[in-house]
Amino acid sequence: MEKYQKHFLNNFRNKLEEWEAKPEVPHVEVYRFVHSLAGSASTLGLNQIGDVARKLMDSMDEKDDRLLTIPELRTMLFDIIEAYYRLEEGTVTDFKGKQGRDGEEPVILIVDDDTSFLMYMKEELENIGWYVVPIANPEKAVMSYYDVRPDCAIIDIYMKETNGFEVLDFFKQKLKQQFFPTVMVSVDDQKETRMKCYELGADDFIPKPFDLDEFIVRVKRQIDRKRQIEELVLIDELTHVYNRKYLAQGYDQVKSIWNRRKEPSSIAVLDIDHFKKVNDRFGHLAGDNVLAEFGAFLKKNVRVQDTVIRYGGEEFVIIFPNTPVKDAYACLDRCRQDFSSLVFEDAGSCTFSAGITEFTDPSKPIDEWLRLADQALYEAKENGRNRVEIDSKSTDIQHNKTIKVAIVDDDPIIRTVMRDIVSKLPAEKNVKYDIKSFKDGAAFLEAEWHSESPCLVILDGVMPKMDGLEVLERLRKREDSDRYKVLMLTSRSSEKDISRSLQLGADDYMTKPFKLLELEARLGQILKRMR
Ligand code: GH3
Ligand code: MG
Ligand code: MG
Repeated sequence: MEKYQKHFLNNFRNKLEEWEAKPEVPHVEVYRFVHSLAGSASTLGLNQIGDVARKLMDSMDEKDDRLLTIPELRTMLFDIIEAYYRLEEGTVTDFKGKQGRDGEEPVILIVDDDTSFLMYMKEELENIGWYVVPIANPEKAVMSYYDVRPDCAIIDIYMKETNGFEVLDFFKQKLKQQFFPTVMVSVDDQKETRMKCYELGADDFIPKPFDLDEFIVRVKRQIDRKRQIEELVLIDELTHVYNRKYLAQGYDQVKSIWNRRKEPSSIAVLDIDHFKKVNDRFGHLAGDNVLAEFGAFLKKNVRVQDTVIRYGGEEFVIIFPNTPVKDAYACLDRCRQDFSSLVFEDAGSCTFSAGITEFTDPSKPIDEWLRLADQALYEAKENGRNRVEIDSKSTDIQHNKTIKVAIVDDDPIIRTVMRDIVSKLPAEKNVKYDIKSFKDGAAFLEAEWHSESPCLVILDGVMPKMDGLEVLERLRKREDSDRYKVLMLTSRSSEKDISRSLQLGADDYMTKPFKLLELEARLGQILKRMR
């Protein structure tokens, strides 16, 4: 960027900062500033900004003598701020990672204390559309499993704190009932090492350094195999949702969430109304078809983290992790309405009834919760069918989930653009994003505001007073550190900072300047797992 352009851009930043420090700004002052922007931007070849500024200027009343509050000012200048951001974003290479929020992209956990390896792999694998969760601290690997539900783990053998065999062993012990592929990597390519990996149950061993293309093919094979096995063993053939074998696993997840965060989950039992009549009137094939459609309908209409299970016959179970019963009710009742309006070609319309209960005690066996949900289902049937009932024990529990999103960055342009993106992210029903921005790390740490609720921190690495790395370090020392998810913003040139933030336990990072699309995708990935 040319010297004058750079100077011009900095001027704008400084002006914003100056204004934000005041309680109110006179409209005339803003008008004058926009007026000068409109003129000089185009002169310097920054036509986009010039155009936006001119448009804004035309819409402003020159003689308006109001005082503007800071939020009013931000709204008024938003288009210009965004144009500035886009100008800087223009120098960024395209973000190739998948932008969808459909939860279908492979999710890979990489456990290695060599952060440059983590960074390299993350970049390369995200380029082919995988989502990579880099773990520099092996102790965190284990915890991440339930949060992230990865499709495969890549584990380095020799690490400072723990060795990879322990991580491998843990996964194999803990996840006995499920197929979770593990690929070991190491510079130590001795026969003994390889044998030990296989003995402990690793699915592959890839010596370092490796050829990336071959690595990708070998890992992809594992992911495909996992999906095939799920199809074969845990997936119900007719409806393509999980079969009841999956119940234990689904319950493990719920228990883990409770043990770590004391957050409730819900379990529902669903049953199609008068299904016998469907069979009698239209035949079993048509009945089968309704069941298959029902399974597909449920999968499509619940969130990615919810698990749909065919319990048997025309009965289904849905596990809603991290969800109070009221929210599960809202989701199911919406499903109920939508499902009843579907018309099947060969079997007319169908309805279902459901009972829900809220899980609050990990010591009880899952049968206990199913029994409570079943009781509520029975009531739904008694009360006329095509209804959802909450188990009477759970009805008086009321929750509403708030996720706090903290934007900690000293750059007013970034703060404004971020806030806009977060506020426009699609939110689940009963989930509220409470967004706040902070000019520096110290101000954020001091704030009482984030002392409860899950909190996503979008954290700038370099800031005056206290930089992001220090903030991250302090957050991770807290006892309730689990509550904070941290997306680190680092400058592209500073590999050292990325490395350090991974070591300190950042959940993800992005290099500045970044594409707004990338930001949206990453926020989506993290928030999806916090809801
Ligand atoms: P309600 O639940 O509303 O009380 O009435 P219902 O008629 O649905 O209840 P019931 O549980 O008595 O009947 C369930 C029927 O579902 C009986 C069985 O023949 C049928 N069914 C179970 N599994 C399948 C299947 O895989 N395919 C088909 N076509 N029918 C099935
Ligand atoms: Mg039944
Ligand atoms: Mg039935």
